[in-house]
Amino acid sequence: MMAIMNPGVADSWLDLAGQFLSLYGVVLLVLVIVLVSVGLLFEFLNARHPERKIQKGRTNKRKWKELYQAPGSLAIIAFCFSGGLFAQMKGWTITPFDLNWWTGPLFLGVSVVLYDAWFYWVHRLLHCKPFYRFHALHHKSLAPTVWSNHNESLTEAFLNQAFYLIIPFILPIPWQMLVLQKLYDQVSGMLGHAGFEHFASPAGRAPFPLASTVFHDQHHSHFAYNYGHTFSIWDRVLGTLYPKYDDTLASFEADKPASPGKPEESAG
Ligand SMILES: [Zn+2]
Ligand SMILES: [Zn+2]
Repeated sequence: MMAIMNPGVADSWLDLAGQFLSLYGVVLLVLVIVLVSVGLLFEFLNARHPERKIQKGRTNKRKWKELYQAPGSLAIIAFCFSGGLFAQMKGWTITPFDLNWWTGPLFLGVSVVLYDAWFYWVHRLLHCKPFYRFHALHHKSLAPTVWSNHNESLTEAFLNQAFYLIIPFILPIPWQMLVLQKLYDQVSGMLGHAGFEHFASPAGRAPFPLASTVFHDQHHSHFAYNYGHTFSIWDRVLGTLYPKYDDTLASFEADKPASPGKPEESAG
């Protein structure tokens, strides 16, 4: 890593390519480890808590079809993330702040808020007719599983992840926070597709801004609602929140009956 972080030294194109590929390989490896470990963890949790299943008739039978798309998706994610990080390490972006007690939380928070806005609008764009062909694959999962996060076209993956290519050029975020955000993004993406609501809490519903697993699950089952990522704010403000979202999430909170209310339609 230190060999990469040396902006004062001019490298040949061959050196640059080698350094980038080294970084890309490390990032890809970490993404694969996160995918497998988080996926298996949620499969374990799901098996232990069948009462938390969101769409009661759902099955896991699309798992291998969804995983078939994962290598391409992960390759694009690794490319975009490594590209932005590499540019920052080489000094080609605006100069990032050093990490300290205030720059870390501040820039991580700003970046997460910006990514949520980016995700919402890219997602709305993908639901417009000319662009939907790039998103249709992801919506084949009416009842998502933890493996559905990477069931996406390469174009969709690139449009979402281009954020990580761009953000180091406009936000002086310490590189450690970029890494933390990417890890959060990978885990939260899988959590949003887990199909089981393990973390129901009032923080995920009005008047609080956070989303939940139910939130994105309803995007898959009801299609034209809940486009956001970490927060429900854009959907609430722009009228795209699924009308029963808050009530459904509340039904999963502790001491509530297992049934989330009206059964959602499901597919495997
Ligand atoms: Zn969608
Ligand atoms: Zn999804």
